[in-house]
Amino acid sequence: MMNRKQTVGVRVGSVQIGGGAPIVVQSMTNTDTADVAGTVRQVIDLARAGSELVRITVNNEEAAEAVPRIREELDRQGCNVPLVGDFHFNGHKLLDKYPACAEALGKFRINPGNVGRGSKRDPQFAQMIEFACRYDKPVRIGVNWGSLDQSVLARLLDENARLAEPRSLPEVMREAVITSALESAEKAQGLGLPKDRIVLSCKMSGVQELISVYEALSSRCDYALHLGLTEAGMGSKGIVASTAALSVLLQQGIGDTIRISLTPEPGADRSLEVIVAQEILQTMGLRSFTPMVISCPGCGRTTSDYFQKLAQQIQTHLRHKMPEWRRRYRGVEDMHVAVMGCVVNGPGESKNANIGISLPGTGEQPVAPVFEDGVKTVTLKGDRIAEEFQELVERYIETHYGSRAEA
Ligand code: SF4
Repeated sequence: MMNRKQTVGVRVGSVQIGGGAPIVVQSMTNTDTADVAGTVRQVIDLARAGSELVRITVNNEEAAEAVPRIREELDRQGCNVPLVGDFHFNGHKLLDKYPACAEALGKFRINPGNVGRGSKRDPQFAQMIEFACRYDKPVRIGVNWGSLDQSVLARLLDENARLAEPRSLPEVMREAVITSALESAEKAQGLGLPKDRIVLSCKMSGVQELISVYEALSSRCDYALHLGLTEAGMGSKGIVASTAALSVLLQQGIGDTIRISLTPEPGADRSLEVIVAQEILQTMGLRSFTPMVISCPGCGRTTSDYFQKLAQQIQTHLRHKMPEWRRRYRGVEDMHVAVMGCVVNGPGESKNANIGISLPGTGEQPVAPVFEDGVKTVTLKGDRIAEEFQELVERYIETHYGSRAEA
């Protein structure tokens, strides 16, 4: 197992980022924050999926006015996930006019490239930091490739032009992203915000650029780091690009909190970004969230989609039950369930899992042996194989994890 890079821990409500704490999963709503009911609903969905922090945009007065009402309603419904307020351009005015908004947030996110233009930038940045100090809130200084502070870039390009051997433009741009984050963090500390109230991010949209920037950033500071590939895209492309970039960094021990920036399909569930983040961490062996389903891809030996449906049904059931099981069955998230398509690898994988089923392939006897802790316990047959296997999984959880529940 890789060693995590030591960073300064930052507390956001009940959650700790960095300082040796488990890597935190976060997400972001896409509702209009002024829509209190809609935003509350989505925050609860994200938290239920396992998001440990949820970011909401605070882009105008209506949104700022809604934030404390959102917090109140979440608390009333028993959802204590900390909210992170995302501010651009007018954050200093909103926090000044709506102190209850500042109080209700667990953390502020400031983008140094979008804090204010020209001569307004420094005083507006200072105001945001003063609010963070006044309300004792941590801040993520989030530099984004697409909204890089142009004054930093212009300065570094000038310096580069004077070098005997100037660096390439992409190198200077990467350095500008890092410099913007580090100089902003130093400025914030100079204004009185302690180091244990600062999280940094430098989000890029290219996998190689992101890896290169975070490797450099991590070697140059010990601030807690938020990882994420920005504008990762839709569907499999967004998932693969995010996984590729984050895995390389996480494997080097870099990163204290992650978010997967997926563009959802129209009307699709926003929680996918939480599930992907959890699955990256779980498949890398960094954290466990939900029992893992091991299923084979299927091949010419499985002429029906029965085992695919069963694998999906079990996966969905486990995920759906986790909020309740997490409280009742300590350690259940480490369990492995195998759903295999035929006799070739079925018994072997099923024996290696906590509980597994080897379904009949084409031409095999229509029976499905079930293995628990490596031993065949029962053979299922007939029309209710799926339901009976699900019941066996539930019984396994009850008998193996029930006694470990917290009092
Ligand atoms: S376990 Fe059987 S059905 Fe599944 S991929 Fe292997 S050979 Fe094909």
